[in-house]
Amino acid sequence: MAEATLFDTFARAPLRFERGEGVWLVTEGGERYLDFGAGVAVNSLGHAHPHLVEALKAQAEKVWHTSNLYEVPGQETLSRRLTDNSFADKVFFTNSGAEALECAIKTARRYQYVKGHPERFHIVTFEGAFHGRTLATIAAGGQAKYLEGFGPKVEGFDQVPFGDLAALNAVVGEKTAAILIEPIQGEGGIRPVPKEFLQALRKICDDNGILLVFDEVQCGVARTGKLFAYEWSGVTPDIMALAKGIGGGFPLGACLATAEAASGMTAGTHGTTYGGNPLAMAVGNAVMDVVLEEGFLDHVRDVSLVFRQGLASLKDRFPEIIEEIRGEGLLLGMKAKVPAGDLVGAMRGERLLGVPAGDNVVRLLPPLTVTAEEAREGLARIEKAAEKLSASLMKKSA
Ligand SMILES: *Cc1c(COP(=O)(O)O)cnc(C)c1O
Repeated sequence: MAEATLFDTFARAPLRFERGEGVWLVTEGGERYLDFGAGVAVNSLGHAHPHLVEALKAQAEKVWHTSNLYEVPGQETLSRRLTDNSFADKVFFTNSGAEALECAIKTARRYQYVKGHPERFHIVTFEGAFHGRTLATIAAGGQAKYLEGFGPKVEGFDQVPFGDLAALNAVVGEKTAAILIEPIQGEGGIRPVPKEFLQALRKICDDNGILLVFDEVQCGVARTGKLFAYEWSGVTPDIMALAKGIGGGFPLGACLATAEAASGMTAGTHGTTYGGNPLAMAVGNAVMDVVLEEGFLDHVRDVSLVFRQGLASLKDRFPEIIEEIRGEGLLLGMKAKVPAGDLVGAMRGERLLGVPAGDNVVRLLPPLTVTAEEAREGLARIEKAAEKLSASLMKKSA
């Protein structure tokens, strides 16, 4: 039962999970669900991963919080590992994706400001984008349903249609500070941005003194089978936001930047109380221990292949239910022919969790530790769900 004392902001499914083990979630009543939502791409190593549990417990017995008034050794280790394995030189830690984006937006604006261009504060974004729910990030996402009723939209966000280079060129100008894009749109419906488009963005940025910002909150940290999704394109950003998978379930985000792009973020310009706290750093470092292990990314790509092939044959068998399979690695989407919510509901009936997204897509985001056997179990459940939906469509049309 929904509790009346909570804000009514979420339409929750009537499921109450008590514990998790790997790719499984177990309800209070003892029912086992195969979790291919992973807390919306957050539980990157599944539930109760022994290495993460151990890291959190060990840190919990030492120190939880000291504030950023002091040095935090875990921040130094984690930032070094992130920069060693990416384009970036500098990292700012946050507690969430939206805060990582806020930092990215502020970093881009400050960069232009210290370069003598205070008028350059506009950020270009793309239709279908999702960057969070703060006032600035709903302006960046530009979706009417998230902006409505919250007062004037934060100034300085110009949105263009997805993949529309002409519209982009028309809007980039004297006021543009940065272009912000998800290399693969997550909430928007698992829409990968073509490599050529990202290359074109890089060139526009270089030609005009504009910064390129990638939002890898959902697609980053091994989710696509590379440590960062931008590696598939060979295009590197100047700034990048991370969260979700990097914390493996502990609230953690990060804003990465080149030294040049971060040059405006001097002492006192930005801050956070909790960001980079020792508990989050212990878990973030433990996640990195696992995803940086040799063979981990190969595992993600191998399982993805099995899962994707299975999904493609389900699409062929149930064209009235599944229209298209898309995505990369274990960031996959099934574009549905029936309402995506119905497909998610039918899957839940088979005790399989997926996540609805825009463009009538069902997201399949299993923990990256999922085995081929578990992927096949997921496929079997999607098959049953599709059979039932298909049968009820036949009944309706009869
Ligand atoms: C989830 C998400 C965010 C927002 O993250 P929060 O932790 O909910 O603030 C931003 N960008 C993308 C691409 C996301 O998927």
